[in-house]
Amino acid sequence: MTLDPETATFLIAGPVRIHPRVLRAMSTPSLNHRGDYFHGVVQEIRELLPVAFGAKGRQVILSGSGTAGLEAVYASLVPKDGRTVVVTNGNFGERTDKIVRRYSPNVTTLAAPWGQGLPVDAVKGALAAGDVRALCVVHNETSVGLANDLAAIAPAVRAAGALFLVDGISAVAGIPLPIEAWGVDAVVAGSQKGLAAPAGLALVHLSERAAAQLHPGTFYLDLAAHLSSIEKNDTPWTPAVPLFLALREALRLLRDEGLEHRLERTHRLAEASRAATAALGLELFPDARFASDTVTAIRNPEGLGDPELRKALEREYSILLQGGQGALTGKIFRIGHMGIADWPDLLVTFAALERILGKHHRLPRPGAALSEIVARMP
Ligand code: PLP
Repeated sequence: MTLDPETATFLIAGPVRIHPRVLRAMSTPSLNHRGDYFHGVVQEIRELLPVAFGAKGRQVILSGSGTAGLEAVYASLVPKDGRTVVVTNGNFGERTDKIVRRYSPNVTTLAAPWGQGLPVDAVKGALAAGDVRALCVVHNETSVGLANDLAAIAPAVRAAGALFLVDGISAVAGIPLPIEAWGVDAVVAGSQKGLAAPAGLALVHLSERAAAQLHPGTFYLDLAAHLSSIEKNDTPWTPAVPLFLALREALRLLRDEGLEHRLERTHRLAEASRAATAALGLELFPDARFASDTVTAIRNPEGLGDPELRKALEREYSILLQGGQGALTGKIFRIGHMGIADWPDLLVTFAALERILGKHHRLPRPGAALSEIVARMP
């Protein structure tokens, strides 16, 4: 079957499927990004961003993918004269470490194996040493399908007085992230994940405390410049206009659905995916206690690699899932079920997985995975 993106089942770990209303919002003639109409677009996005973050604060929209948001935050907030702690347990944590090391001369990396929970005691120990000015961590480690338990470290970060800088790229509008209760100082979201807008924008939430401590980092991503422009419903440089229009529409959809409802649906889809995975006789990759609600990462069964499984899903059923990254290439596959993903997506995907495993005589109980999903449908 030749893959037709218009009709494929699209469940990679972001970008996610986009609602037709959001797609249509981008099909406009060129707009004057310094004109009243576009200022109105920026204003509406500003008004809607607290819905996405679940918190009010100083929030900006950057033209650039999620990494642009991370670079903006680390470049403007990690201290030049104090210690920064980076906690890692997956590919994106390791990337955080690389970015932070460009901007902070004094970095301590606390690494847990990929897929394992945060090294909470080591984090608390490092914070207790007293000289930590910022702690950087990924909330939802997309690479291994794991949601980090930030509640377990938040009080220690606050007690240490360190800035709490969180990569929320695949967490925002996907899993609960109580920014105020945890005292988070910066959160970066990506447009292409839980918000279900096209890739290419980064949204940054800053606490007042963080906004007051910004120092010049990169020129293009200077958060102080972006904050002062957005006060006037403007952007410092030419923005990615069509993406702003799409984001506005995606945020309207989120507002109409309600953040709580989107988180709840994502959670139920994740529970169903996990139960269906077990029914297929397959194993989750991460420590199951921390399995993510936005991405289910599953170990490939012995002897079945990407060509037999994930690529067969794509070839035979036009279902797109994501593979593993780095050392996990060919060893795991990942199902993204965030944004506007819904029950039919899961049903089709697990039906096809049953079929493929069955052909390889690796399906323990035909129909069991689908039953698990159906039992959890609203
Ligand atoms: N951090 C996390 C947790 C991610 O999931 C991703 C992308 O998947 C990134 C960072 C990088 O974001 P981008 O590719 O949008 O720059």
